[in-house]
Amino acid sequence: MKKLTGPKIVTPSVPGPKAQALFEKHVKNTPTGMSRVLPTFVAQGDGALFEDVDGNVFLDFAAGISVLNVGYSNPEVVQAVKDQADKFFHTMVNCVLYEQYTELASRLNDIVPIPGEKKTLFLNSGAEANENAIKIARKYTKKTDVIVFAGAFHGRTLLTMSLTSKIKPYKLGFGPFAPGVHRIDFPYCYRCPWGQCKETCKTFCATRLEEFFVEYAAPEDVAAVFIEPVQGEGGFILPPNEYLTELRRVCDKYGIILIADEIQTAMCRTGKMFACDHWPVKPDLVTIAKSIGAGIPISAVTGKSEIMDAPQTGGIGGTFSGNPIAAAAALKVLEIMERDNYESKARHVGEIVMARLTKMQEKYSVIGDVRGIGAMMAAEFVKDRNTKEPAKEIVDEIVKNCWKKGLLVLSAGARGNVLRFLMPLVITDDQLNEGFDILDSVIAEVCN
Ligand code: PLP
Repeated sequence: MKKLTGPKIVTPSVPGPKAQALFEKHVKNTPTGMSRVLPTFVAQGDGALFEDVDGNVFLDFAAGISVLNVGYSNPEVVQAVKDQADKFFHTMVNCVLYEQYTELASRLNDIVPIPGEKKTLFLNSGAEANENAIKIARKYTKKTDVIVFAGAFHGRTLLTMSLTSKIKPYKLGFGPFAPGVHRIDFPYCYRCPWGQCKETCKTFCATRLEEFFVEYAAPEDVAAVFIEPVQGEGGFILPPNEYLTELRRVCDKYGIILIADEIQTAMCRTGKMFACDHWPVKPDLVTIAKSIGAGIPISAVTGKSEIMDAPQTGGIGGTFSGNPIAAAAALKVLEIMERDNYESKARHVGEIVMARLTKMQEKYSVIGDVRGIGAMMAAEFVKDRNTKEPAKEIVDEIVKNCWKKGLLVLSAGARGNVLRFLMPLVITDDQLNEGFDILDSVIAEVCN
């Protein structure tokens, strides 16, 4: 594996000539509905860097949306995948069992923060894990409906798209949606949906939970509440601890399954193996995907055994679910993360990111809010700090100007006015600071 240094842009503009030709071919052959942030093509990766086909080296503050927590082409994961590929690729676990599936399930059951006996089911994508979590919750509770939040992202399949909040681009023209989905406002303190002020509100949002059952949904119909411990696509928003405690109380009172969608937050991203490790209460089911396979598709639902055992045999699963190569990669990822203390790596990255963002917030009035936990940080851009009018155009320009200088950074938020930071956790301090130097200079250019 080639060691990369950078970021450095060696072509007169991005995309360079090879990437430009490939991009034209790509656009001709693939649907417009697939968004493309960076119009270049990766040739190889190394840690937090990747080189494109023209020899430009980019610093990656996106990590495939928190998939590459152990970095691009982590050599130990590469070896685990090669070793497994030498033995066998596939059996379909329903036809012939293999140890890797069982071992990975047992490892997750040991570490997912749910009390008591647990079981794990493997799937392929985040959306598929969420779909299955709903099937399991419905079967167990013998109820049908689901409560989700404004700003939520749970996937793009019909059922998970119905759970997802943002209309454009995720839902426009794709309806009708799955029935029985109820949406409640998310406790978004910077823009409190109830017009409250964090300092004086006494967690007013928590009182809305019981109220919701009066006006919008009967708890006798509700099988599950789905919550992201940190809203990802929604703009990296953390619910207050008091809210989570009340949510747990309400779920217990009405026999509702509390599902934590940890697809973006798990695998040490927030400074703990799971974001729920920070919670004062615990969920009943957790869905996991993205970084667990370090780029090999695999997802999971882990939950209390009595809930997980509710579906009839044959009712859950799938051809590729828990594929042996993906399971071998995931076992190696867990081993590396525990051995090398990735939780503290994430906290260290987060401290540097928070310090740099706070300094930028002092310098640039367009940065209205800086927030996050561990290495899941964001800055929300506004046209005016008093009106908080979202500044999506500024964020779009920053994103574009960053990649022209070799830094990949992504936007987020229902209004597209949030810059989110999800760098690989193996990033070095020098790389981090170099990335923020680029970002700082770009914000100065865009805002002056
Ligand atoms: N849930 C959350 C919180 C996510 O961030 C995502 C993807 O970004 C999903 C679900 C969907 O995962 P996938 O794209 O693997 O289906």
